Amino acid sequence: MPTASHARPHRRIIARPPPLLKNSAGILRRAQRARHLMLILDFDGTLTPLRRQPEQVRLSSSSRKLLHRLAQRARLSLFILSGRPLLDLERRVRARGVRCLGLHGWEGLPGGRVDRASRDALSQFLAAVEEQILPIPGLRLENKQVAFAIHYRGASPVAVRHARRRLLCLLHPYQKLLRLMEGKKIWEVLPRALAGKGAAVRKLRTSFPRGSLVIYMGDDTTDEEAFSALPGAVTVRVGKACSTHARWQARNPAEVLRFLSLLEAELE
Ligand SMILES: [Mg+2]
Repeated sequence: MPTASHARPHRRIIARPPPLLKNSAGILRRAQRARHLMLILDFDGTLTPLRRQPEQVRLSSSSRKLLHRLAQRARLSLFILSGRPLLDLERRVRARGVRCLGLHGWEGLPGGRVDRASRDALSQFLAAVEEQILPIPGLRLENKQVAFAIHYRGASPVAVRHARRRLLCLLHPYQKLLRLMEGKKIWEVLPRALAGKGAAVRKLRTSFPRGSLVIYMGDDTTDEEAFSALPGAVTVRVGKACSTHARWQARNPAEVLRFLSLLEAELE
């Protein structure tokens, strides 16, 4: 069985990956045989449906119980890796034994200090955004302290184009210290030390027991770096069919949870 540490980086993009559930038998057999399982899951859009407001997103109690039961297995480690700040994520997950990693893995893993210059750049840039971009109708700021996000789910396509142009223009002088990450109806501005989910799974991988099978599921562009950083893993892109670095596709969180129940039964 290929293990993450021995395989080459997986750069291949698949236009339409095959459906996870239809192919689950083979994957579950691999899980059954693996010495250890590393289950790494995104939160929003993967374990829970997306909502108009991120505050409205809730984990169902049946999902919480399922995650809790999986995390109790000695042979399985369960991580939830999200762009949300850690405290917010932990409040929503509340499943014992599940390890939460916030801000794309920057919170909860070692390394990556944000220096003074980057913090100053972030607050200056935020002030400019508040003055020049946030008055555009339909935009909403989420301040994550060490980073910030602009949600544009409520804005018209014209407003979104206009706001994005302004944002890139304002960001230009700060590019050495800050970067823009684009996700589903969200722009995130982060210090470069917050290196994203690809860097997070590379760090996590060093702690995996030998012979681990990694299963990673995520629904957004921010998860793509993680897919390509995990060669040999079972990677699953959640949502509508699209080009992806993942090997498999699940259509929605309901299919993710169905797969996790099958996995639980397989490990009985
Ligand atoms: Mg997501």
